[in-house]
Amino acid sequence: MEKVILDGKLVAKKITDTLKERVTSLKSKGITPCLATILVGDDPSSETYVKMKGNACERIGIQSLRIHLPKETETKKLLETIEKLNLDPSIHGILLQHPVPSHIDERKAFEAIDIKKDVDGVTSTGYGQTAFGFGTYPSCTPAAIMEIIKHYNIHIDGKHAVVIGRSPILGKPVSALLLNENATVTTCHSHTTNLPEIVKQADIVVAAVGKPNFIQGDWVKKGAVILDAGYNKGNIGDVDYEACYENASAITPVPGGVGPVTISMLLKHTVDAAEKSMNIPSL
Ligand code: NAP
Repeated sequence: MEKVILDGKLVAKKITDTLKERVTSLKSKGITPCLATILVGDDPSSETYVKMKGNACERIGIQSLRIHLPKETETKKLLETIEKLNLDPSIHGILLQHPVPSHIDERKAFEAIDIKKDVDGVTSTGYGQTAFGFGTYPSCTPAAIMEIIKHYNIHIDGKHAVVIGRSPILGKPVSALLLNENATVTTCHSHTTNLPEIVKQADIVVAAVGKPNFIQGDWVKKGAVILDAGYNKGNIGDVDYEACYENASAITPVPGGVGPVTISMLLKHTVDAAEKSMNIPSL
């Protein structure tokens, strides 16, 4: 059986190439898609992520409004900032970089984002709509995982997908998206017992744990498809790539797998939102 390295850079390029055309078309109608990013505090990784997202916008002609608030910012001030962006018709997407400093009520801040501008799927309404299978923008990493699966024509229907992780932005929504595509889904977490035995049953493994090299080679069934959403210090995924490569039929590398597609999904959702603001049906 031929082994496939699931090339996130390739999938991301395909998405951004079509987005460039859509951005040009929107601009000819007088609209420049705009993503507002909000960073609170000085966490260096968060600063890098926000910078990467802003630069990716600008590369394809999306405007990027970067708001950087000091780490002492109170919840009230952050809510006011979000409200202003909600009311501004020139802003199509709002991204609040997670995590915010611990004194801020992050959930309240996420919930304040207008559902029409929730391009990163962080509101409970966005999550609910994703789970129901209609409407809005799923979180970008789950959307990226589904996009990679679609690009490589990986069969989901009837397959057993095992997701390791249940965070509101990753494990839970990707479980819902796989379920909506008729996978039989097992969602694992830190209280799961016999994790290796469960992973061994998986046709599709999604790693979303936040622990470097956590998924071991001998946990993986021969022929399984492995999607590694993990991104840990030193560009290391949640999957022990070398060890899992052996049994996998297809696997995402880190870096160059889920990460680049996540950013392109954020751009796509922003362009979708700009088109919707003009009542143009999105692709
Ligand atoms: P998170 O909020 O920390 O969630 C981690 C999940 O893993 C939790 O549900 C936790 O279970 C579970 N877990 C922890 N230890 C476990 C264990 N020993 N066995 C089984 N499950 C365990 O992390 P996240 O935000 O979802 O991110 C996960 C990974 O994806 C990180 O590496 C992050 O950097 C990466 N990520 C990548 C992108 C991208 O663009 N590629 C975007 C977002 C995140 P409990 O719920 O029981 O605590």
